[in-house]
Amino acid sequence: MATFSEELLQLGRTVEEKIAGKVREIDHIVDTNQWKVIEAFQRRQVSDFHFSGSTGYAYNDRGREVLDEVYADVFGAESALVRPHFASGTHTISTALFGVLRPGDELIYITGRPYDTLHKVIGQPGDGTGSLRDFGIGYGEVALTADGEVDWEAVEAAVTPATKVIGIQRSRGYDWRASFTVQQIGEMVERIRAIRSDLIVFVDNCYGEFTEELEPTQVGVDLMAGSLIKNPGGGLAETGGYICGKARYVDQAAYRLTAPGIGREVGAMLGTTRGIYQGLFMAPSTVGQAIKGSIFAAAMFEEVGFQTKPSWQESRTDLIQAVSFASADQLISFVQGIQKAAAVDSHVVPEPWDMPGYEHPVIMAAGTFIQGGSLELSADAPIRAPYIGYMQGGLTYSHVKYGVLMALQSMKDYKLL
Ligand SMILES: *Cc1c(COP(=O)(O)O)cnc(C)c1O
Repeated sequence: MATFSEELLQLGRTVEEKIAGKVREIDHIVDTNQWKVIEAFQRRQVSDFHFSGSTGYAYNDRGREVLDEVYADVFGAESALVRPHFASGTHTISTALFGVLRPGDELIYITGRPYDTLHKVIGQPGDGTGSLRDFGIGYGEVALTADGEVDWEAVEAAVTPATKVIGIQRSRGYDWRASFTVQQIGEMVERIRAIRSDLIVFVDNCYGEFTEELEPTQVGVDLMAGSLIKNPGGGLAETGGYICGKARYVDQAAYRLTAPGIGREVGAMLGTTRGIYQGLFMAPSTVGQAIKGSIFAAAMFEEVGFQTKPSWQESRTDLIQAVSFASADQLISFVQGIQKAAAVDSHVVPEPWDMPGYEHPVIMAAGTFIQGGSLELSADAPIRAPYIGYMQGGLTYSHVKYGVLMALQSMKDYKLL
């Protein structure tokens, strides 16, 4: 048994009693999403032979084709492209955007600055990396208002005849703002349609899947992407991403992923298929465990005086729990504490480093079975003021609880609390 002070353990027990009602609400979302997934498996008659994987060109891999159909059903989309060949969430989002945008077109993000790794995907004209702007695709972004809402006046002013795609990021990412609920995204879609009905609404759904009973593609979003080493992989998918939405846009993304003319017809699944199916089956429940853990985390950190986003009582639409610390030392101690509670790599001590794709040194706690898998308990923070730590995931609620206790204990031990 890890050594926690009796005072801290008592605080944990008190907090668990306080959050019990909120935690029970999560079970309802889990039940709804669990059945949604099972129904999709049943409708597409998933069988054992679908799990066997494929090699070479992998023409007519039924497991891969049915997987796409199951995902499309779960997300209420016309079509889906679910592949282990997506190397990360960024690659998946990049493929979706390059799939539909052409030189001279323009992308406008209306939820402020997108997630750090996308800055290089957007790039600069002439940067030589093959970024969107290097290819002559225009880019604009509209900052959120002071109270974290879409600035519609500015959006209307920003849209030009060249604008083709409107980007929405559901999750807060590394920003101290609220995440957008599916209902809010549905309202955004209506307003965007009123500006121009042919705009393609794209949602970066990373971290959002199964945290609510509906997904953005069920409220009118045209194209959406996410990572399989986050929510929908259920902690079991070993790599990959998904794109779903209107069939013609998903097909264009498939041409970008492989090659024009080939699209979704090829792509060996090797041994990944079973994990991706089983991960999807597990995802609603595992996401529920993680969310319950986040509620506990928020309540604990609030109890000792830190600001959190969301606070423990608020409804959630993603996995991310942000906690605002007073100094870089506290922040680093928090991340190191999370690492200390891991089953994997608890003996290593994370340090800030210059991660590819990020603009500030980042410290990450990731004692995970899947490298960087963030449906597993992990914590990260860019080392920049204000000192905000982001934690997410947890395959089991108990693990998150220990992670939070360990982080607080570690701050106490270093006299940072
Ligand atoms: C994680 C994430 C990404 C990028 O995914 P990677 O797998 O880290 O490349 C993009 N957008 C959001 C909101 C994310 O949370």
